[in-house]
Amino acid sequence: MARFSGATWKPISVNFKSGGQESVYGVVIHIMDGTLAGTDSWFRNPAAKASSHFGTGRTGALYQWVDTADRAWTQADGNRTWLSIENEGRGGDALTSAQIARCAEVLAWAHKTHGVPLQVASSPSGRGLGYHAMGGRAWGSHPSCPGARIVAQLPEIVKRAKALTGEKPKPSGYEPFPGTKWFKKNPRSPIVTAMGKRLVAVGCSTYTTGPGPQWTDADKASYAKWQRKNGHRGTDADGWPGKTTWDALKVPNVS
Ligand SMILES: [Zn+2]
Repeated sequence: MARFSGATWKPISVNFKSGGQESVYGVVIHIMDGTLAGTDSWFRNPAAKASSHFGTGRTGALYQWVDTADRAWTQADGNRTWLSIENEGRGGDALTSAQIARCAEVLAWAHKTHGVPLQVASSPSGRGLGYHAMGGRAWGSHPSCPGARIVAQLPEIVKRAKALTGEKPKPSGYEPFPGTKWFKKNPRSPIVTAMGKRLVAVGCSTYTTGPGPQWTDADKASYAKWQRKNGHRGTDADGWPGKTTWDALKVPNVS
C-alpha cells in the first residue's frame, strides 16, 4: 500500500486494477481538459473506464484517487509501469505555480517511495517525470496531453522535487572528468552515451551503441585514433578518456 500523506485521499471503488502496478518507471503528467470536481465525479462513474493516481486543482488542491500499488487507467499501455497526475485546466494551459508545487511534491514522494529518478523522461522506456503524449499510439494517441506549455514546465518540477529531497541540482555545463579508472569500471553508463554523442559530433563517427550504452573495442579504437589526430600521445591516446581529451571533448552534463 502506498499513499502520499500530502494528498487528500479520495478513494474510488471502480476504474482501476487492484494490485496491478507492475513497476514504477516514473510519473506521467496530464491535463484534465476539465475541472478537478468534474474529474473526481467522472472517475467514480463505472462508464468512465478511466482514473489517475493523483490530481491537482489550479489553486493547489492535491487528490490521490488510486493507491500506487494499484493500476490507474490513465495512459493505456503505460499504466502498468507509470504513475499518473491529472491536472485541472484546459488544453493549451500552463500549470499554475500551485500545481507545479503539488506535482513536485508527488515526484519527490515517488522518488523516495518508488525510486523514481529526478529527471525529465521523454519516452516510455525512460525513467523520471514524463508526459502523456510521449507514449504515442501505445499510450492511446494523445498528442496534445498535456500540451507544449506544460511539457516546457517539466524541468522546473524536477528542480523543485530535487530541492524537496535535498538533492543538489548539478550545475549546468560539462560533465566533470570521472577518472579513467571509473570508465574502465563503468563501460555502460549515461556518461558513456553522452561521450559517444560528443564523439559523433566531433567526427569520430564510429561510436556504436548496442543494447544500452557501452564502450566497445571498436569505440576504443576510433577514440584512440581521434586522440592521436588531436595531438594526444601516450596514455592520452589509449582509447580511454584521460582528463586532457575529456576536457577537449566537452561532454555535457547528463542530469
Ligand atoms: Zn493525458
